Order: sequence, then C-alpha cells, then structure tokens
Amino acid sequence: MSKIIAIANQKGGVGKTTTAINLAACLAVAEKKTLLIDLDPQGNCSVGVGLEKETFEEKNIYHAIIGKCSLEEVIYKTELSYLDVAPADQNLIGAEIELVSEFAREQKLKLALETVKDKYDYVIIDCLPSLNVLAVNALTASSSVLVPLQTEYYAMQGLMQLLNTIRLVKGSLNPDLDLEGILLTMFDSRTSLHKQVAADIREHFGDKVFESVIPRNVKLSECPSFGKPIILYDIKSPGSEAYLSLMREIILRERIIEEEPADEFNYTVPPIPEEYQDAQGTESQPQL
Ligand code: ATP
Ligand code: MG
Repeated sequence: MSKIIAIANQKGGVGKTTTAINLAACLAVAEKKTLLIDLDPQGNCSVGVGLEKETFEEKNIYHAIIGKCSLEEVIYKTELSYLDVAPADQNLIGAEIELVSEFAREQKLKLALETVKDKYDYVIIDCLPSLNVLAVNALTASSSVLVPLQTEYYAMQGLMQLLNTIRLVKGSLNPDLDLEGILLTMFDSRTSLHKQVAADIREHFGDKVFESVIPRNVKLSECPSFGKPIILYDIKSPGSEAYLSLMREIILRERIIEEEPADEFNYTVPPIPEEYQDAQGTESQPQL
C-alpha cells in the first residue's frame, strides 16, 4: 500500500517545494517508486524536477482535478527512473473557483488517486501556501502531513491554524490523517535564535519533530534553476545529506509502525502553547 504525504504549511516560503522535490528524489534513489504531485499553481515543483512548462500545458494536475482526464494521463517521467511527477501550472488557480459548486469538491484528488496510488510506494504532494480547497483536497487524500517549519521566531504562530485544519479534516473528511512530523528548515546552527527556536519546538512536539534538520544551503536554492533535485546537482552538499537523512528517517519510521504498531504512533494533533497562539490561528477556520 502506498503512503501519501502532503507537504503543507500555509505560510509562504518555508521550504515546502524544496522538501517535496528533494524528499521525493531521495525516496526514488532508495528505489521506492514515488509520485510527486504538484498542487501549487506556481508550478515550481514540476520545473524543479526538470520538466519544461510547454510539455505539460495541455495535460496537468488541473485537468485531473476537474475531471477532464484521469490522473494517470497527467503523469510524466523524470530523470530518476523511480520518480514520476504530476505537474501543475497557473491553470490550477481556476480549479478553486470551478470546484465551488461541485459535489464532494474536497475529495477530487483522493478519487483521482484511487486508480494510481497502488503503483507507488510513496506519493508526495506539494501544497500551495494557503488553506483553500486545494490544500483541503491534499489533506483529504493523504495518510499524513509533513510540516516544514522555518526556524524563526514566528514559526509556531501559523502552525496553530494549520493544526486546526488538520484536526478538522481528520474529524470530518479523513479520519486516518496523521501528523508525519515537523521538519525544521533553513536552519543556521551559528545563530543562537535558530537554536533557541529549534529547542522550543522540540520541547513542545517531542518526537514528532524529525531528527533530521535541513540547513540553510545555497546549493538547495540553486538546483531548481537547473531542473535537478539536490542529489543530482551536488550529492556531497549539506542539503543532500539532510534530505537523504530525512528519507531514511521516514522509511525507518514506516518499518517500525508496520512491525510493531505502537500506541504512540496513533498520534493526535497536539495543542499549541498559549504564548504562540495568534488571533488568526484561533479565529479563522477553513470551510469544509
Ligand atoms: P511557497 O509557499 O511560495 O510555495 P515554499 O514553502 O514551497 O514556498 P520553497 O519554494 O521551497 O518554499 O523555498 C523558498 C525559497 O527558499 C526558494 O527560493 C528556495 O530555493 C529557498 N530555500 C528553501 N530551502 C532552502 C534551504 N534549506 N537553504 C537555502 N535556500 C532554501
Ligand atoms: Mg512551494
């Protein structure tokens, strides 16, 4: 059975796409058959794994979501033989409006995945920086959510709203949804603030924070413009090592869960400490 992981955080620029591309590529080099789904109209994921925009203008994830074709028809091969991608472009913005009047509009991606998911060990979904109907589609289709969190002072605040959304989706649309883990990104070990924020997050979320930490690494920001994941761009870079380590952690966790399903993995989404709660997080709820 495939594991479907949504990479989500409604905050922009925290490393979602970088994580989606590079985690998917690392799983592929570990010979795990992986499908990367770009669910962001920015289309950065698609280009980041080497696809030319012109090649998928006619058929991309937008067409599969609105039911114009099957998901299978919008899957493209990449340079890595174990990695396929379902790309996106700006047309996806239209899906949000078109889905408004649709029946079961939150379930479109889940339904589209039904015929495809068993061909893959992992499906990685890159979400857009929003908690709109597309993001809810991703959460409804997924087995778990991986939350990239930039190590900065305000990191925890937006998390409240995201965890509320995860709770809501779990309660109504997808009871099996779990928190895969929180991933600290763009970490600078020389900065005491980063260390302090990382320690706070670990204290609160315990083993739900991945041990692997993604350092700030210029190679990671360079490689998308070459259409390559970091492991094909510079295997020896700290960014490569970090994403390979994350991949190992995820595969290992999976094995532990399969071998001895322990209670601690039946994880419920924890509350956020009051000092980190913000007005936005406590008041605003997505419409499900
Ligand atoms: P959006 O919310 O717009 O979709 P995102 O959460 O997907 O953004 P990314 O696009 O992955 O974030 O990253 C934002 C920017 O930071 C990009 O230019 C990316 O190349 C850069 N970046 C991401 N992670 C790192 C890192 N660990 N080190 C250096 N640069 C990084
Ligand atoms: Mg992105």
